[in-house]
Amino acid sequence: MKLPKRHFDALIIGAGGAGLNAALQLASANLRVAVVSKVFPTRSHTVAAQGGVNAALANVLPDSWHWHMFDTVKGSDYLGDQDAIEFMCREAIPTVYELEHAGVPFSRLEDGKIYQRAFGGQSQDFGGEQAARTCAAADRTGHAILHTLYQQNIRVRTHFFDEFFAVDLVRDREGVICGALALEIESGVPLLIESKATLLATGGWGQVFRTTSNAHINTGDGAAMALRAGVPLMDMEFFQFHPTGIAGKGMLITEGVRGEGGYLVNREGKRFMEGYAPHAKDLASRDVVSRAIVTEVKAGRGCGEQGDHVMLKLDHLGEALISKRLPGIRESSRIFAGVDPVDEPIPVFPTAHYAMGGIPTDRFGRVAMPAGKGAEEVVPGLYAAGECACASVHGANRLGGNSLLDILVFGRLAGKDIVDFVRENPYRRGADAASLDAAMSRLTRLDRQGEGIQVHQLRAEFRKCMEDHAGVFRTQEIMVEGYQRLCELRDRLPEVRLSDHSKVFNTARIEALELENMMDVGLAIAVSALHRQESRGAHSRPDYPKRDDQNWLKHSLYYREGDRMDYKPVRTKPLTVESFPPKERVY
Ligand SMILES: Cc1cc2nc3c(=O)[nH]c(=O)nc-3n(C[C@H](O)[C@H](O)[C@H](O)COP(=O)(O)OP(=O)(O)OC[C@H]3O[C@@H](n4cnc5c(N)ncnc54)[C@H](O)[C@@H]3O)c2cc1C
Repeated sequence: MKLPKRHFDALIIGAGGAGLNAALQLASANLRVAVVSKVFPTRSHTVAAQGGVNAALANVLPDSWHWHMFDTVKGSDYLGDQDAIEFMCREAIPTVYELEHAGVPFSRLEDGKIYQRAFGGQSQDFGGEQAARTCAAADRTGHAILHTLYQQNIRVRTHFFDEFFAVDLVRDREGVICGALALEIESGVPLLIESKATLLATGGWGQVFRTTSNAHINTGDGAAMALRAGVPLMDMEFFQFHPTGIAGKGMLITEGVRGEGGYLVNREGKRFMEGYAPHAKDLASRDVVSRAIVTEVKAGRGCGEQGDHVMLKLDHLGEALISKRLPGIRESSRIFAGVDPVDEPIPVFPTAHYAMGGIPTDRFGRVAMPAGKGAEEVVPGLYAAGECACASVHGANRLGGNSLLDILVFGRLAGKDIVDFVRENPYRRGADAASLDAAMSRLTRLDRQGEGIQVHQLRAEFRKCMEDHAGVFRTQEIMVEGYQRLCELRDRLPEVRLSDHSKVFNTARIEALELENMMDVGLAIAVSALHRQESRGAHSRPDYPKRDDQNWLKHSLYYREGDRMDYKPVRTKPLTVESFPPKERVY
């Protein structure tokens, strides 16, 4: 059968906030843009974002982008690049107004301005009193943003390939990325999409852990495609565990609950965060609160019959406030924890939530690789934005409300840069036969029936291994064992067999492709974590309990070939203001 082909100026893989904001710029500039998504666009994971998006609008309390920048640098445990952080915090303000004008139904204050709530790690005046910087549409902010961006894309006639799975990137004869091989999920028919520029906007990979706030689709496909294309992944050891997942299930209870006045208690009914973060208490940075919860449970002060979680109390906020500001949380708590937070506390425990690392980019979304002697070069035709990318604004720990901001700011800028790139490179590129064969071989390689391991079995073993060996606290011994086990599991991939059923619905086939991607990304996390001998942000090692700026104030780069590591310096110089030098991080 001849492989069907389509041509576009730009291909965007992923229809979350990052992909859709990039597509909007491209289609608005009259470029032919294709957006491929393995789920219907408005089911992308951005839809699940609850608490809000940060911008120093100063609608509730005094604020400035410079304070926002300080909090983000400190929150990153000084690993974030300060030029990118300055840029993002300045851009936050026009970005939120742009969204408002595009139709996002933000919650309102009495005076009609956008409502803003307090979130963890936010301060006024460079570390002073709590700030209120998170712009919210009740507790369904991501839903409001994603639907608005989708509607705007329909208006400008973006072309959508809904429920198409991107299998791999393809290159032209000169090695320039020129599109991707995709698979129509329903029919199982492959499709080659050729383009002048390709943007990866495939979101995060929380699914590599057993207990996670992330949806089933968050399997790190884009990051794995980049790895296979020879691109390293940056700062992969930094994976955020959100403190308040529903215990034993993982679904998220937004930090906005604590921003509205909720707090954590242990078995003795004590507000234990006062002991770990005397000033910020329950609104300390996420890594700090997650470690505190695990420490309380390990010390025997956990709640419930097994003593394996703590409680999030918000009944004192009253039904009116909970219904107005946190309606989705009330619903999730009833469904998944069987409690109504108006009357009872919610059982919570840290849940795998957010990837700080990813595909290294500059702030225009261009994928950038080390080119020897400290120099960097961009990978021609390849862009990345959103959670799969690492523009280095979150460093070792992301602040709540900064991810929606990241995807919107850098998605938009990547779109604008692609417009220029396509105008400068207007000729059509065609995929090279060898590159196409390599992509096609992914489909045939995993497509086996008969005796062997079912995809879901191997997947379950892999996710448990990640949870046991790359969780909140990591020691050399735990990680070495984890790495060995992961290598064994990776070696078993060829034993995977698909059931006959999958011939019709392709489900197991897609899951097999996703599993291979997850394993690549899981190994990137495990290897990067094993090498970093310090504790910084979300990477916490009881055997190296201190941050070590002398040896480790640097970004890690993981290469798939030979599980190789490399490092590059942190950019500590901002664009227009003074640097924030590393200091002890207390809340
Ligand atoms: C429960 C929850 C609540 C959150 N709340 C907040 C919050 O309040 N504030 C905040 O700032 N951040 C929050 N975050 C984080 C934030 O929502 C995400 O980081 C962000 O939305 C990611 O957006 P994205 O555009 O990068 O990717 P996503 O929205 O995840 O979209 C990824 C897209 O890629 C597509 N895709 C992936 N692989 C393939 C493939 N192989 N082929 C084709 N398509 C593919 C998917 O179909 C999807 O369209 C939250 C996260 C979670 C999990």
